[in-house]
Amino acid sequence: MSNADLAGRHLDVGILGATGMVGQQFVRLLAGHPWFKTAWLGASERSEGRTYGEAMKWRLASDPPKDVLGMRVEPCTPGNAPRILFSALDANAAQDIEPAFAAAGHIVVSNARSFRMVPSVPLVIPEVNSDHLGLIARQRRERGWSGAIVTNPNCSTVVLSVVLAPLRQFGLARVMVTTLQAVSGAGYPGVPSLDILGNVIPAISGEEEKMESETQKILGTLERDAISAHSVVISATTTRVPVIDGHTESVSMQLEQRPSLGDVRAALESFRGRPQELRLPSAPPAPIVYLEQADRPQPRLDVERDNGMAVTVGRLRPCSILGTKLVALGHNTVRGAAGAAILNAEMMVAEGMLD
Ligand code: NAP
Repeated sequence: MSNADLAGRHLDVGILGATGMVGQQFVRLLAGHPWFKTAWLGASERSEGRTYGEAMKWRLASDPPKDVLGMRVEPCTPGNAPRILFSALDANAAQDIEPAFAAAGHIVVSNARSFRMVPSVPLVIPEVNSDHLGLIARQRRERGWSGAIVTNPNCSTVVLSVVLAPLRQFGLARVMVTTLQAVSGAGYPGVPSLDILGNVIPAISGEEEKMESETQKILGTLERDAISAHSVVISATTTRVPVIDGHTESVSMQLEQRPSLGDVRAALESFRGRPQELRLPSAPPAPIVYLEQADRPQPRLDVERDNGMAVTVGRLRPCSILGTKLVALGHNTVRGAAGAAILNAEMMVAEGMLD
């Protein structure tokens, strides 16, 4: 199905976990979407049976779209939901709920960590590894599902993987990354204000392992029906900082071919993927925007670039240990969550995978 084929008509979609931080971003981003229409909302038994307006407390800066406020929140059990479902479920809940929907024929496009590292589940950033969607055939064979689960990465992993993808050509060998992650990444209510105000918390449970393993899977290659992980060795330190939205990452890289800084910058700036070729509705014009200024990127100034879908990079300079270093920033609940999943679904529609 091409952009032109879809013009003027909408596919109904639903949201599992619609009331949470990421669920609200789905609701916001899908309002006025040219291809998708929010037709179903699901959440926990705390919310089911209430209207969306009653069940959730809106936490985003813009007003909630009026047409969803009166919709009834449904239980997260297969039944009357549309075929395409975005999942913003808590990971514990996703563990059982997502396979139940996939078995019932739904395409679950998920943010949750529960299935990202399962060998038959695609973990996709469409600019980087859209070919990994080919794993769906194996998943259906192994599980006997008529639907599927497709995942997008952890919010810190997305930023790192988008930056590293165009640098693979230089022999990407080792990476050290330190994150400064926003509080919205912990959901609501997340980190208590007395813990985070005026403070830095130097640990986020499970986050470092996710950045290391997910990045290797995403940058890996699809061989027949399995992913051969990229050999890059990654050491991550993840921290929580008093920023509302936007994960900043300090990245040092060893590139075996020792490219000049000019070559690295050219590779970052010229990077494009299938979403740009296909002009998908949520695709930023370029996945990476490079800023010259010495004090950028900054979350407050740069996180909303291209509707929160671009990764902003700056401070490219020599590293006396690994060779090359830079600073990157991405919107954790948009590029790192809801926007990423919507782009995955757009990719699947445009490639005819949902016909
Ligand atoms: P959140 O604010 O805590 O929202 C969780 C959602 O899951 C709510 O809608 C909640 O419904 C629902 N839920 C919880 N238990 C359930 C159950 N047993 N059955 C059905 N629904 C249930 O979390 P979040 O920050 O939006 O994150 C959602 C998912 O995205 C998580 O898996 C998270 O790891 C992932 N993620 C988050 C980010 C980020 O930056 N925040 C980035 C990437 C990925 P009720 O309101 O009814 O309780």
